[in-house]
Amino acid sequence: MAVTEPASAVVAAAHEGILRRQSARESAARTYARALPIVPVRARGLTIEGADGRRYLDCLSGAGTLALGHNHPVVLEAIRRVLDSGAPLHVLDLATPVKDGFTTELFRTLPPGLADRARIQFCGPAGTDAVEAALKLVRTATGREDLLAFTGAYHGMTAGALAASGGARDVRVARLPFPQDYRCPFGVGGARGAELAARWAESLLDDDKSGVPAPAGMILEPVQGEGGVIPAPDDWLRRMREITAARGIPLIADEVQTGVGRTGTFWAVEHSGVVPDVMVLSKAIGGSLPLAVVVYRDDLDVWPPGAHAGTFRGNQLAMAAGAATLAYVRENRLAERAAALGARMIAQLRALAAEFPCVGEVRGRGLMMGVELVDPGAGGGAGAGVPGHGGAPGSRTVPAHGGIPAQGGGALARGRDTALETAPPPPPPSASAPPSASAPPSASAPSPPAPELAVAVQRECLRRGLIVELGGRDASVVRLLPPLTITDEQAAAILDRLADALAAAVRSRHE
Ligand code: PLP
Repeated sequence: MAVTEPASAVVAAAHEGILRRQSARESAARTYARALPIVPVRARGLTIEGADGRRYLDCLSGAGTLALGHNHPVVLEAIRRVLDSGAPLHVLDLATPVKDGFTTELFRTLPPGLADRARIQFCGPAGTDAVEAALKLVRTATGREDLLAFTGAYHGMTAGALAASGGARDVRVARLPFPQDYRCPFGVGGARGAELAARWAESLLDDDKSGVPAPAGMILEPVQGEGGVIPAPDDWLRRMREITAARGIPLIADEVQTGVGRTGTFWAVEHSGVVPDVMVLSKAIGGSLPLAVVVYRDDLDVWPPGAHAGTFRGNQLAMAAGAATLAYVRENRLAERAAALGARMIAQLRALAAEFPCVGEVRGRGLMMGVELVDPGAGGGAGAGVPGHGGAPGSRTVPAHGGIPAQGGGALARGRDTALETAPPPPPPSASAPPSASAPPSASAPSPPAPELAVAVQRECLRRGLIVELGGRDASVVRLLPPLTITDEQAAAILDRLADALAAAVRSRHE
C-alpha cells in the first residue's frame, strides 16, 4: 500500500515551493516579500489566510490601500455589477457611466472650496504617476520649474516624484524641514519647532539671496507615512497655506496614503481646515484596485490636451470599487470611527512606551499609527518623545547599514540615500534671530533609532499572526494601518500581539 503524505505536509511543501520559486525568479528590488514570507490565498476584512493554512491580522492593508479591508462585500458587489453588465473594462479616458459615478462620489467628499471649482485628471494607475501629473500641472500653470518639498517626504518612485521625496537630491527641489517633535531639527519640538520650520520656509522664499528661486509649487503630506508616521501640526499646515497663498505658490497635498478616512477625517487636510490648490489621490480611492487622480482648482487647468496621458487611465473595475468604497466610508462615518478608535489605540500604545524603554515615541492620527523603536542604552533619554524636549540638532545617528533599509523597510527607506539623514538645516538666513536662540537647551536628546530591533519586532509579529510594516528614516518605525472597519476586539488583538512581539524581541536581544 502506497504511503500518502499527511495533507499538512503537502500544503507546507506547496507554500515553501512558491516562496522558493519567488526568490529564485523575482527581482532583487522586491520589498515586502522579503520581510513577509507568506503566500496569501484568501482574505476577508482584517484577515489573510496563507497557503500554509495560517491566518494573519493584516495591519499593512496593501500599504494603506484597503480602507475597508480585504474583499469587502460592497466592493465585491460593485465589481460584480460591472462584470455582469457587459460594460467595457478598458476605455482609455473616455466617458462612461461608471466613471461618471466615481467622479460624482469623489467630488462629494472633497473639501468645500475645492469641490465647487474642481477639475480631475485621471492618471496612470499609481500614486507616483498622479504626483508627476500634479508637478507638471503646477509647472505649466505658473511657468516656473522649481519645487518646495520636505525632509522625510515620500511621493513615489518615478523621476519627478522621487526627486520630491526626502531621500533624493535634485537641483530643482528646495528641501524644507518637516516639523517633528521627537527628532526636531531645531531641538525644541512642539509648536515652537513647527513655528521655526515655518519661518525657515518663509525666509527661504523671501530672501533673494537664499538660492531658492520662486517655485512652481509646494508638495507635502498632511501626515508623512513612509517618513515614519509624522503628522503635520494643524497650525503649521495653516502657515504653509498662508505662506504659499500670499506668494502665489500652488499648494499640493499628497493624500495618496492619508485619504479616505484614514486619519480621522475624510481627507487629512480637513483637520486644519486648509484647502489645497491640488490634491493627489490614489490607494484607497480604488477600493483595492489601481486608480490614481489629481484634483485641482479650475484656474490651474491651463495645460494642453495630452499634457499628461497614459494608456491605463480608465480602469472601470477600480472606479466602481472606488466609488463603492468612498460612499461606504462617507455613509458609515468611518472617518469618525478611525478618529475615535485610533485615539484609543494610540493611548494604549503610549502605555506600552512606559513599559518598554525601547519605544522612543508613539505617533499617529486616526488609524495611521507608528511606534518608533530606539536604543535607549546608546544615549538620549528622559525627555525624548515629549513635545518640547526634542533632540539637539545634529543628534541623529545614521545607521551602520548606510541607508539601505532592513528587509521590507518602508518605501521611503527603500528609495532614499543617506543625504536625508545627515544634518538639520542650517539656521534661517534672515537677519532676525530665530526664537530657538533664546529657547532653553533641550532637556535631552532622543535615543538613536533601532532598525535591527524593528526587524525583530516585525518578525515576532509575523510569528504571532500579525502583519506590520516598517518605515521611517531608519526603517525603525513599526507602522500600523489597519482597515477602518476593524472591531474593538480586533484592535485589542492587534495590540496584544504587538506587545507580545515587542517583549519577545527585547528578550531575545538580551539573550
Ligand atoms: N505619495 C504617498 C504619500 C505615498 O505614500 C505613496 C506610496 O506609498 C505614493 C505617493 C506613491 O504611490 P504608488 O506607490 O502607488 O506609486
